[in-house]
Amino acid sequence: MSGLTGRVLDPHSPGWEEARRNFRSCVDYDALIPRAIVFCQSELDVQNAVRWARENNVPLRARSGRHSYEAYSLFPGALIVDVSEIDSICVDGSNMTGRIGAGVYCLDLHQQLFDVGFTVPAASGASVGIAGLALGGGFGVTSRKYGLTCDSLTGVTMVDAKGDLVHADAGENADLHWASQGGGGGNFGIVTSFDVALHPIGYVAICNITWPWQAFDSIVDAWQRWAPVVTDDVSTFLRLAVDGVITLFGQMTPDNPSDLSQFSALLQPLLSVAPPTGINIQAMPYSAAAAVFGGADPVNTKWLIHPHNDRQPFKSTSAVAHELFPGQAITALRKQLEASPPQTPWETNEPSMVQLLAGGGAPSRIAVDATAVPHRAAKFVVQYDAYWTDPADMQRSVDWIEGVRTAMLPYASGAYANYVDSLLPDYLDAYYGPNLDRLIAVKKAIDPDNVFSFQQSIPTQ
Ligand SMILES: Cc1cc2nc3c(=O)[nH]c(=O)nc-3n(C[C@H](O)[C@H](O)[C@H](O)COP(=O)(O)OP(=O)(O)OC[C@H]3O[C@@H](n4cnc5c(N)ncnc54)[C@H](O)[C@@H]3O)c2cc1C
Repeated sequence: MSGLTGRVLDPHSPGWEEARRNFRSCVDYDALIPRAIVFCQSELDVQNAVRWARENNVPLRARSGRHSYEAYSLFPGALIVDVSEIDSICVDGSNMTGRIGAGVYCLDLHQQLFDVGFTVPAASGASVGIAGLALGGGFGVTSRKYGLTCDSLTGVTMVDAKGDLVHADAGENADLHWASQGGGGGNFGIVTSFDVALHPIGYVAICNITWPWQAFDSIVDAWQRWAPVVTDDVSTFLRLAVDGVITLFGQMTPDNPSDLSQFSALLQPLLSVAPPTGINIQAMPYSAAAAVFGGADPVNTKWLIHPHNDRQPFKSTSAVAHELFPGQAITALRKQLEASPPQTPWETNEPSMVQLLAGGGAPSRIAVDATAVPHRAAKFVVQYDAYWTDPADMQRSVDWIEGVRTAMLPYASGAYANYVDSLLPDYLDAYYGPNLDRLIAVKKAIDPDNVFSFQQSIPTQ
């Protein structure tokens, strides 16, 4: 493989088995064996990888944090161009800007930026990669205040299909910059770094409040009337798990730490509607909150929201609610969850669940055509998650969760581009809606030979 630079692994290299695995996707890894993986450490390594793949007629895939639900960053016989070792973060505090290497993991991003007093809205999953996240939209517990991850992108540097380095921002290659703000990873080139606008961050308050299943209808209704319209300082998600526990996770991110004490009062519309079985509200530095949401807090175990190991399979899909759920939709959702296939054992398995992620706030004030993300008017995003342990449970779990999404289509449609689902019909319309035609035009202009393609990539026409 002469011509490739960086840390190159092939099937005979030590560490190959670990290097070729993504995060828990329910894919058949034996059918997804790449030809080689190059861990790039520089832009030049990425350029050499693209040129090598084209000269040798080998398909390629970009990879950052390996969290693609369908492992679209893997492909049999492909060269996997992994940017996870391009992971530096440079901050210009006086201008509140930064340059972030495309391989930075979200927890590192939260913590390193916090150390200098800043943040960028990003995922709660600790090892979600900034590249896949930002290119497909990206949200986290500061999003209602500061926007989606892609809303903070001021520029992007990538290696194009010829192996050339291209920069895009509002003034230069503006269409490519627009497409990079939510048009999905793996479509236009391999990003090496992102320029971002930074936002101030300090102390935050986080909540973990539980209710029994009997409160389902009243809590879902109260949450949907409150979460998209409460102050932008508060971002929450409501977890409806088939083990019968309803949990509200969320964060308050005020400008002034003295406002943290108001979090309980802001939560009153939910606390007063049904008696909780547990209430935990704590103020802490944002870096500690990020560790909690990332499931990386072994001391504070009751806060762990990712208790499973990294190999537990799952199937996730999504939809967007543009209107509040009427009563019959809430009842239908509860009945769908009550009909979930049995799961065992609970100790090692996350319960299957539906999570409602609050919309409104800063993302909703950006025009639908200002970035590639179309779902700006969402009241909330619905995330459908099935988990299982025994491989024999896989098919019925997948069928069930797809059935839940289908049953709820009258109330929530479309899909979030970062929650890729190979079973979604009309996935391009679902992910990109009215922005699809412009994305296709950008694709045709930047990658007419469709070098950057995968199962759900943007076509050239
Ligand atoms: C446990 C977990 C938690 C999550 N939490 C959140 C969350 O809180 N908020 C949220 O919005 N989303 C969340 N997600 C979804 C996440 O945003 C997507 O899965 C995202 O695509 C992951 O990006 P990645 O770089 O980690 O994955 P990868 O598998 O490396 O890449 C994902 C896609 O982007 C492409 N890509 C990767 N690197 C590059 C690059 N350098 N240039 C161009 N294309 C590239 C890949 O080819 C692939 O198509 C979560 C997912 C998981 C599994």
